Amino acid sequence: MPRIALYPGSFDPPTNGHLSIIQRGLKMFDGLIVAVLRNPAKDAVFNVDERVELLKGAVNGDARVKVKTFEGLLVKFAQEQKVNTVLRGLRAVSDFEYEFQMANMNRKLDPELETLFMMTGEDYFYISSRFVRDVARLGGDVTGLVPPNVLKALQKRFASK
Ligand code: ADP
Repeated sequence: MPRIALYPGSFDPPTNGHLSIIQRGLKMFDGLIVAVLRNPAKDAVFNVDERVELLKGAVNGDARVKVKTFEGLLVKFAQEQKVNTVLRGLRAVSDFEYEFQMANMNRKLDPELETLFMMTGEDYFYISSRFVRDVARLGGDVTGLVPPNVLKALQKRFASK
């Protein structure tokens, strides 16, 4: 049986921090399902379908990475996908409390579901989708913070600003 983990998030937009977790996750798992949450956020830059395309582009069509979308409970989606490991990244102490609560809530909902945390690399700990969105919106340069295809898409989106 191939070992597959679920890597869920908003990915608006995908960043090099996400990509690093994906690449490192692939050293531990045969494959990953990157799951984009369908949540209507009012300050979204990319819609969910655009995020899926950006993630696919960022992993360069690596067949070990499947990009899907989900809504509702993560535990239900994990069950549907027959996956019992969730992969999450940890940047700082500030991520910990929320992640700890969520992992425990998910385990309560499904005792078979295990959440695995990977510490971010020192080059990525300050990168968050939110800051990338805000900086790009204000015309700042996010080169090096996001994959090249995402950089292009952001430049196009905010070209007129
Ligand atoms: P959320 O929607 O929960 O804020 P994101 O979509 O931003 O999460 O990210 C999904 C996952 O990737 C989360 O586990 C988050 O902690 C992790 N992550 C985001 N940015 C980084 C980064 N720079 N380094 C490592 N992990 C990250």
